[in-house]
Amino acid sequence: MLTRSKTRKQAHEDARKAVIANIVSINTEYSLQSFVQLALHRQELAAAVHFLILKLPRTTSRLPIVKTLLSLLKDVTDLVLDMPLANPIAGSQFLYFSNLTSLTTTLPHRAIVGLLEANPQLLYLDVGPCDTRSACCPLNKVALPHVTHLAGPPGCVMRLMGESLLENLVATYRGRRDVFVHPEHFFHPTNFDALARVSTLHVDFYSDDLDTLIRIAAAVPQLTNLKLTERAEFRCTRTKSIWRSPSKWANAFQSLPKLTTFLVKFTQGLSLGISSEDDTVSRWLTANQGHPTLRHVVVWSSAREGRGSLGVWDRAATTWVKTFSLFVPVDSEDFLDTGAFV
Ligand SMILES: [Zn+2]
Repeated sequence: MLTRSKTRKQAHEDARKAVIANIVSINTEYSLQSFVQLALHRQELAAAVHFLILKLPRTTSRLPIVKTLLSLLKDVTDLVLDMPLANPIAGSQFLYFSNLTSLTTTLPHRAIVGLLEANPQLLYLDVGPCDTRSACCPLNKVALPHVTHLAGPPGCVMRLMGESLLENLVATYRGRRDVFVHPEHFFHPTNFDALARVSTLHVDFYSDDLDTLIRIAAAVPQLTNLKLTERAEFRCTRTKSIWRSPSKWANAFQSLPKLTTFLVKFTQGLSLGISSEDDTVSRWLTANQGHPTLRHVVVWSSAREGRGSLGVWDRAATTWVKTFSLFVPVDSEDFLDTGAFV
């Protein structure tokens, strides 16, 4: 068995080796403590960190040390802060990182306002569920004029995009129902300028959003990659679902003339009468002579808690072929391999 001192020595050695690779991943309180102790004595090691992944368990208690760690990083470009804790970096306005371009975090939105305001050069931002109960998220007062990739609840990220540099947008509810802004608000004409360069879009929709695809096509006609996920909470009657009309779907697809990849997740099955789900999808793909550029389609239907039916269609020349198929019933103990749905 290793002695305590040898264990600590090994931890320091591991930390030193990690820094040599410019990437540091910390996922326990002990490794956090150990790394900070080392970095305080050898600040050149902390200064060499480019990529920091900090994933701490909910029981983590040493919050001030997180600030100490961040203050030692002089050259970091990518930060992953996965800490489901209250306000561990509040008052972080002083945390300016001259080379920081990417931030992924689960921290409360009110806790990262200072960090974002201090680092308006960010290109990539991915935030977790919103923690505000008011009608206005604190992130709404922040501007990220250079951001090209945004991911988060729509009411929180829609004000961040500002300029028309955004290329990749993920607007989903992230497990929270009480967010006040409907994803459709993205597709209001007042946002068209901000969406002018978006080529990849992932957005939630509701089964009664009959015009979802049409609205998207009007706002972001240059899309090449589109992913739609139906929210289960507000399902309506099946008769209203737009996918039941292949020609309407096909028409909306035609309004996205550069689209190459389409992924969609439904909470319900897609069989119609005696027609199978495959028949339904085939009709979307072949209606109106088919789409000129669409090549890859993934449909996840009857989706519940990681189960359901997953099908992949690929186009070779003018023919669509179902290249992958998997079904896991909702009462199964197994889960779908949803690797195709990313
Ligand atoms: Zn928010």
